Amino acid sequence: MPGISGLPVVDHHCHLSTVGEGAAAAARFRAAGGTHLFLATQNYEGVVPTDLEAYRRQFETTERIAQQVRSVAGVTVYVVVAPYPIDLVHAAPTLGLEAASTLQTAALDLAGRWVRERRAVAIGEVGWPHFPVPAEIDGACRSAFRHALEVAREADCPAVVHSPDLDAEGWAELERLAKAVGVPARRVVKHYARARRPTTADGSVVPSYLARRQLVGEVLHDPGPWFLETDFLDDPARPGAVLDLTTVPRRAEAIARSSTAAADALATPFVRGIQEVYRLTPELSDR
Ligand SMILES: [Zn+2]
Repeated sequence: MPGISGLPVVDHHCHLSTVGEGAAAAARFRAAGGTHLFLATQNYEGVVPTDLEAYRRQFETTERIAQQVRSVAGVTVYVVVAPYPIDLVHAAPTLGLEAASTLQTAALDLAGRWVRERRAVAIGEVGWPHFPVPAEIDGACRSAFRHALEVAREADCPAVVHSPDLDAEGWAELERLAKAVGVPARRVVKHYARARRPTTADGSVVPSYLARRQLVGEVLHDPGPWFLETDFLDDPARPGAVLDLTTVPRRAEAIARSSTAAADALATPFVRGIQEVYRLTPELSDR
């Protein structure tokens, strides 16, 4: 029976592939009690996009998968699109850094258009590499990320951030950058957060926590907004590389069974956080 304690059950970040399970994974999510997915785009063609048309195709594929998931699995899907920030690193050797940066910027602008046209609810993943890169590349990635925040500001939408794990200074730095660009920190989500955010003060960037049992237990009663995600990759070549798509509903069910207070706390990631950050209300009747 999908839905737990009358709440929607939401995985805030996953990918589905055209060569993996696709909508069948969403059907497993639904069978486990899941109701809503934030579906982030990804490179489906196995090569780094080298022109804007490739990004348009990519976003359209994400939209098509989202439609399949809605009709096949009966799960509500929110689409999130942007050029993957690491694409810039991989496109630079072939295109040259300047052309690669121009492409990244144009693809970010395209993502902003999708949000304005309501084909997507946020831009993501945007950010910077989670591994060391040469200074020149790093500079280009930082500029692209700044542009991404500008796009989020102009489209008035959240930015879902891919970055290395952040320490307290890293979170603060991201908050300062958002402020400098004019995006409320509350509209900036650090996805794949693997440790509890150091501050829960107002004006903090929003963590989307990897739904590991211990971490969820640590953060469950933190004031929101915060989210739970699997970052499910749906990559047949790497089964089990990340959490399975059934993790959030399974975790939610165990929490809901443990106590009423714990069950109530699930409204933070599954309802209130989405209202605060996305200005959307996930309804069970959406399905
Ligand atoms: Zn991701």
